Amino acid sequence: MSEQKPTVAIGLLSGCFGCLMSFLDLADDLAEVFNLIEFRRCPFNDVRELEHVTVGMLEGALSTDHDMKLAKEMREKCDVLVSLGTCPSYGGIPGMRNFQDSKTICEDVYGRRVPDDEELPQLLPAVVTLASVVKVDYFIRGCPPTTEKIKETLVAILEGKKVPEKTRNLCVECPRTKESILTPRRGFLTQGVRSVMELDEIDPTRCFLEQGVVCMGLVTVEGCNARCLGDNMPCRGCMGPVPGVPSQGNKLIDAVATLIPSGALMFFEDSVGIAFRYTHAADESMRK
Ligand code: SF4
Ligand code: SF4
Ligand code: SF4
Repeated sequence: MSEQKPTVAIGLLSGCFGCLMSFLDLADDLAEVFNLIEFRRCPFNDVRELEHVTVGMLEGALSTDHDMKLAKEMREKCDVLVSLGTCPSYGGIPGMRNFQDSKTICEDVYGRRVPDDEELPQLLPAVVTLASVVKVDYFIRGCPPTTEKIKETLVAILEGKKVPEKTRNLCVECPRTKESILTPRRGFLTQGVRSVMELDEIDPTRCFLEQGVVCMGLVTVEGCNARCLGDNMPCRGCMGPVPGVPSQGNKLIDAVATLIPSGALMFFEDSVGIAFRYTHAADESMRK
């Protein structure tokens, strides 16, 4: 009977295993999911050979020639290909390396002794998204994605259903009070931009932007249950932009510019590092 179950393979590109941990966090539900599918190549069983499977999932960014080869092989051998997490979907944190050329990065890390063994993976000139290389059937956003989302997507694929797309921004999920930000006014919302460290106290019940702290929730798609906000940390945008928004980073800078006094943007430290943290590799406006 087990031969009739849909087969699943998981491939690792340049990632951190965080998405995989989120998958394993299915915990009690894991048995239910394992009953529905049969794993072929995946890090849980150490099977290296990639045979034809029903569903393939790829974690991590496309950063090396090895990643590129695996992505193409997975596409060929999987009926359905899933981009698991923000790394393959938008470049994620590894995409931040696109601020520099790959030669400079290697020299910064290794000094004059950059390893050049041809067996080692070679860095691509820049991190690219999975969808720019092969056709992707499903995207699971988040760094890492929520366990519920992984399960929902996997079950939908197995049942041949669509996964409903989220279309609103994260503020709708955020439990913090939003008062000043919703009031039309001529004055400015805040006097400047401050980092979390600069505040003696952060009101855990009030919108970060109303306290002068940049939050990406305005320009980030809903779907993570506002988990950082619940832990009194501002959103950094790991779920990516709201559908239809071509540049999450530019949208954030536009939004913040309308909320603070003119000139205060100069004191918004690491604005590019915050605004483009997860989507630099996917953002057309950041290409040379
Ligand atoms: S999306 Fe985040 S958790 Fe997943 S591999 Fe990339 S860095 Fe790790
Ligand atoms: S900007 Fe951030 S803190 Fe304010 S409501 Fe939106 S998600 Fe919540
Ligand atoms: S609150 Fe923002 S940074 Fe945190 S998990 Fe959600 S989208 Fe990602």
